[in-house]
Amino acid sequence: AVVIVALFLGYCMMKGKQKHSLWAEDEMEAANTAEDLQLLELIGQGRYGTVFRGSLNERCVAVKLFSSANRQSFTNERSIYGLPLLQLHDNIARFLAADERTNAEGRAEFLILMEYYPHGCLSSYLSHHTVDWSTCCRMTHGVTRGLAFLHTELHRAGESKPGVAHRDVSSRNVLLRSDLSCVLADFGLSMALTGSRPPRPGDPDTMAISEVGTVRYMAPEVLGGALDLRDCASALKQVDVYALGLLYWESFRRCSQLFTGEAVPEHQLAFQAELGNHPSFQEMQILVNRNKFRPRFPESWRSSSPALSSLMETMEDCWDPDAEARLTAQCAEERLCDLTLHSHRIGPPPVGPASSQDLGVV
Ligand code: ADP
Ligand code: MG
Ligand code: MG
Repeated sequence: AVVIVALFLGYCMMKGKQKHSLWAEDEMEAANTAEDLQLLELIGQGRYGTVFRGSLNERCVAVKLFSSANRQSFTNERSIYGLPLLQLHDNIARFLAADERTNAEGRAEFLILMEYYPHGCLSSYLSHHTVDWSTCCRMTHGVTRGLAFLHTELHRAGESKPGVAHRDVSSRNVLLRSDLSCVLADFGLSMALTGSRPPRPGDPDTMAISEVGTVRYMAPEVLGGALDLRDCASALKQVDVYALGLLYWESFRRCSQLFTGEAVPEHQLAFQAELGNHPSFQEMQILVNRNKFRPRFPESWRSSSPALSSLMETMEDCWDPDAEARLTAQCAEERLCDLTLHSHRIGPPPVGPASSQDLGVV
């Protein structure tokens, strides 16, 4: 299977050079007949792309459309999706094809075709649904597996995948399959960290990349302009893990079994309670960098079980103010794996007043 994938990627690369496009094998036909692609419904609007549910030869697909102003973001995302071995992982969004075309006004536009994820992004799912403990463990564990894989340099069957920093980890950039398993998506800002030309301190490119991402999820060292570029690869991975901690908090706050005898709170993005829907860079800088404020845990989680304490500790270890003290994505993955296994054996952790009594704590 690896050989087939290798041959296939090689073919795509070759094709990509010829046509400036990267079409998956079974879409080759379609490359020549872009009119077969129908955009059916607007399903997402990010900062860089507009996403549609579409249909290609009767197959349901998602189409991320970039205007010519966002060409850089398109080129970058396409090159990340084109990296060897990346598509082998179950928690990375499935890429189908990329192309350029001219729209009705005669302007160039760029498309990325990908698998359609019926539940959309994690944030929108959490705003409409609560999740039970084992689902929540599985979802967050999946995202973490995806990130740990992304960060890892890999050599297999003569192919190499560099370590990659995502640089825009957020609950809007995680997508859900119909079985609620999660994939990491939106690689528009991602960066290869190893390989032919890893980032070096002082590079104009490296400087330009140090302050990107979604303001809400920016790590304190990014907000404070103190990202340690001497070891750029580690620094950028630590920035991803910080945002991962916020994503855990958003997810477990919607876990129905962690609020027994009280209503599950409405979904909130990290720092939404404090700074609302459009926090500015400066507000985030003061709150997260200067005041070292982090999302609060619900009161009822305080005096509860070892499993929940360890979950809260994992979040704190992800968003530690000291970037070097944070967990690696691999380590976070192990912690969540333990939590998931634990929940299989003994179910969700007891929470709230009832559990305090159970434990003899008043
Ligand atoms: P941007 O780079 O502009 O942020 P994204 O790739 O994050 O663009 O897509 C924007 C939004 O579109 C996502 O947050 C999600 O809600 C939706 N979306 C993106 N890709 C898909 C997909 N394959 N299936 C379903 N929804 C998607
Ligand atoms: Mg996005
Ligand atoms: Mg993006």
